[in-house]
Amino acid sequence: MNETVKNLSSVKNANKLTILKTFYSENVMTKPEVARVTGLTFATVSTLIDELEEEGVLSNHGYADSKGGRKPLQYGVNASAFYFVGIDVQVENIVIVVMNFKGEVVKSYNDSFDTTTGPHDTIAQLRHRIDEMLSSLGKTYEDVYGIGVATPGPISADRSSIISPPNMPSWRNVPFQSMMEREFRIPCYLEKDANAAAYGEVQYGAGKGLQNLIYIVVDVGIGGGLVVDGQVYRGARNGAGEIGHILMDIDGPECRCGKTGCLEAMASIGAIEVELEKKLGERMNIDKILQETKAENLVVKDVVSRSGKYLGFAIGSICNVLNPEMVVIGGRFVSEDDTYYKAVQSATRSQVLGDFVNHLQIESAALGQFSAAVGAASLAFHDTVFDKGGMFIEG
Ligand SMILES: [Zn+2]
Repeated sequence: MNETVKNLSSVKNANKLTILKTFYSENVMTKPEVARVTGLTFATVSTLIDELEEEGVLSNHGYADSKGGRKPLQYGVNASAFYFVGIDVQVENIVIVVMNFKGEVVKSYNDSFDTTTGPHDTIAQLRHRIDEMLSSLGKTYEDVYGIGVATPGPISADRSSIISPPNMPSWRNVPFQSMMEREFRIPCYLEKDANAAAYGEVQYGAGKGLQNLIYIVVDVGIGGGLVVDGQVYRGARNGAGEIGHILMDIDGPECRCGKTGCLEAMASIGAIEVELEKKLGERMNIDKILQETKAENLVVKDVVSRSGKYLGFAIGSICNVLNPEMVVIGGRFVSEDDTYYKAVQSATRSQVLGDFVNHLQIESAALGQFSAAVGAASLAFHDTVFDKGGMFIEG
């Protein structure tokens, strides 16, 4: 291709992408409205919208009101143009969502599956479930443009492999991206689960529309994900967000990472279980702990809120570094009882400096179990459609 033609086509592709992005923020528009919002000429907008409609990406959405004369046609994103699949592989659970081209979840699945049996079994199970979900929608893999997969970290710097997730010993150094692409023959994107969940909450959840958000999930361990300036913040080697391993006490208990005094060893569900066993001589699981806090068992409540306090101080310190608009906290300790959550909130607020605290929102995760799967689908969408302009790269 000659250089001038190539440049022309890339300008054209960039303009098409600008127009498409406008439809995502403004929903339904007429051609003159698109020209006004984008600053492109009406002739350019008109031609490119016709092309986008021909390609099935935009569709006709009826007529706008007219102030006299012919009613102008309105256009919008064609929801069924393409689909994206989001997957969250957890230790004992698989969550899957199918998202349409408008970003709406049209099908979801959440059930227990023992993923510790390894990647081959897990892929077979995923295949089976996704086959069912697509066929119930009357769709095939031809309609799917990308698959986003959230998995426990750490994952490699190039986001192709799962390295060594705790509690999943059969998942050491697994090239999961290429295994998935071989199975599904669709571009796959790997993301650390907490990062995906942070992104899900910014796109569709508690922090919808915000640019800077810290997501924390309290489980057996403590995971963290960061969205900075609207993007997932991964750091130099994809190692960012390990909030659970902030040092809280140099003489503190041993952490499963091999160090001592980490936040995770002092504020996770696992840590609370250990602490309660020491105090009461009884091993309680999370269901029992939640039952006791609701029944006002003061010993249990005391241990739980002390742990929440540690998490709050850690969050407050991170807020002083990153100054986010919102902190979102996920996990059953937050969604099912307020003992832990209240302690987190007040400790966070006491630690954040100056006036920033008045502008900080602390919320529980809005998407619940689906944060990471929705975030993964959404990252696959943004990677293929917006960031790389995938569907507009010709030849
Ligand atoms: Zn640690």
